[in-house]
Amino acid sequence: MRKFPYAWSVDQLKGENCMDLGIRDRVAIVCASSKGIGKAAAEALGQEGVKLALCARHAEALEATATEIRSRSGVDVLAIPTDLRDGAAIDALVRQTLSHFGRLDILVNNTGGPPPGPFEQHDDAVWQAAFESLLLSVVRLTRLALPEMRRRNWGRIVTVTSTAVKQPITNLVLSNSLRAAVTGLSKSLANEVSGEGITVNTVAPGRILTDRLKSLHEGDEAATRIDGARGVPAGRVGEPRDMGTTIAYLCSEQAGYITGSTIQVDGGLVSGLL
Ligand code: NAD
Repeated sequence: MRKFPYAWSVDQLKGENCMDLGIRDRVAIVCASSKGIGKAAAEALGQEGVKLALCARHAEALEATATEIRSRSGVDVLAIPTDLRDGAAIDALVRQTLSHFGRLDILVNNTGGPPPGPFEQHDDAVWQAAFESLLLSVVRLTRLALPEMRRRNWGRIVTVTSTAVKQPITNLVLSNSLRAAVTGLSKSLANEVSGEGITVNTVAPGRILTDRLKSLHEGDEAATRIDGARGVPAGRVGEPRDMGTTIAYLCSEQAGYITGSTIQVDGGLVSGLL
């Protein structure tokens, strides 16, 4: 297997050659952020001085992550236990964020992945649950966040999808279908709001070393690294920080001209041109 240097850690990225992303004191909601990709996005934004509202279902794990990010970055971090399938919980998440911070500039949409399985395995209830989790949560959060962004003529909306939007993945029909819908939503909205200082983008991870990927190998990290690197031109699986730093950049002042885009973070895994 080809050797490829590991990505810089967020701390290393704060060295003297580092770009200031120009978003200090902005306020972000980062969804599904107790661990994995969401946590990495929150860490990268926290390092930029962004104040954070974190959410996930389990209060204890979420508070542990909030404490960790608070102590590493020194920013104000609010932990709001939320089930993103629940519209009332999403209302409360945005309400509590606004009442604590008084503003909302950045929304990072992310949630747990849908169950695997072929088409014939999923009944209406499974499709409905996947729709509410992957698509409707983004609709609801965006609807509540947009007026706050419009008020200040500035906003960043970034949604985590999957390389399934470029190349459908075997045995993941729910993800392949609903993430395409999320991408359509994001592109449509980008066109509607780009004249108002608001950008809307999606980030498509390939194989990122999180609990979700490890669960496919019964939690065995070494096996996940080896198997996950197969067919990846970069020769390795992605680290959560590869996603986190990309998301933070899309939220930056400098990324103001990037909108309606899907950015792959996949070490070259998708073999198509676009
Ligand atoms: P993860 O299992 O490491 O973390 C998932 C996070 O989502 C946790 O914080 C969990 O508490 C939270 N969560 C799950 N269901 C929730 C709900 N209903 N409400 C609120 N929070 C909820 O997973 P990850 O790898 O970080 O994946 C994040 C997203 O990226 C998923 O949608 C996943 O399918 C997608 N994705 C991941 C990869 C990868 O290689 N890791 C590849 C493609 C797509």
